[in-house]
Amino acid sequence: MNITESLKNISAQLPSHVTLVAVSKTKPVSDLMEAYNAGQRVFGENKIQEMVDKHEQMPKDIQWHMIGHVQRNKVKYMAEFISLIHGVDSLKLLKEINKQAKKHDRTINCLLQIKIAEEDSKFGMHPTDAKELLSSEEFSELKNVSITGVMGMATFTDDTKQIEQEFNKLKATFEELRTIDDSLQTISMGMSGDYQLAIDCGSTMIRVGSSIFGSRNYSN
Ligand SMILES: *Cc1c(COP(=O)(O)O)cnc(C)c1O
Repeated sequence: MNITESLKNISAQLPSHVTLVAVSKTKPVSDLMEAYNAGQRVFGENKIQEMVDKHEQMPKDIQWHMIGHVQRNKVKYMAEFISLIHGVDSLKLLKEINKQAKKHDRTINCLLQIKIAEEDSKFGMHPTDAKELLSSEEFSELKNVSITGVMGMATFTDDTKQIEQEFNKLKATFEELRTIDDSLQTISMGMSGDYQLAIDCGSTMIRVGSSIFGSRNYSN
C-alpha cells in the first residue's frame, strides 16, 4: 500500500473523537507532502531540528507535534510554531517552554508524559508527581503554557495483556488529573502496533508512523 492508501485506510477506522498524528520522523518531505495532499494536517516528529527544517519547507496550515524527548536548550527553535508538545516530564521543562512561548506572545499546549511501561528506558513522570505538578503554585504562575492532557508509551512487547494494563494505567491517571483540572481532554497513546487496543482503552490521540509511511531506516 502507498502512503495515501494507508492513510485513508487508517483514518476510515477511527472514531471521530480520535486524532491521528502522522509520525513522519526520518521520512523525506516528499513523503510528508503525499500525506498532506491526501488531507493529513497533523504531523509528529521526535527531533526538533528535523521538525524545524520540515516546517520551513512545508505548507503553513500543518499542526506540528513534538513527540520525542525535549531538551530544554532546544525549545526556543520550535516555540514560534509548535502546536502540541507530548513529552513534558518536569516543571523545569515547562518553565522553559513558558519562557519561550512568552517571547512569541502565545500559549503552548503540552501533554504530561506519564511513565506507564515497566522498562527503565522510557521517559515520563510518576502519576503522583504529575498530580503534584498540576496542583502546584509554581505551575499556576506559568501563563504561557497549557496542560491539555497526558501521553504514554507502553512497553515494547507482544504481550497484549500487559499493554492493555499499561494503557489502563494512563487512562486512570488521566481521570485522576481531571479531578484537579477538568479541562484536560487528550490521552495520547497508541502507535502502529497497538492503536486499536489504545482506542478501546480510551485513547483520543494516536501516533502512527510505520503503518502510514512504511518502516524506518535509521542508517541514513
Ligand atoms: C516513532 C514513534 C511513534 C510511531 O511509531 P510507529 O510504530 O512507527 O507507529 C509513536 N510515538 C512515539 C513517541 C514515537 O517516537
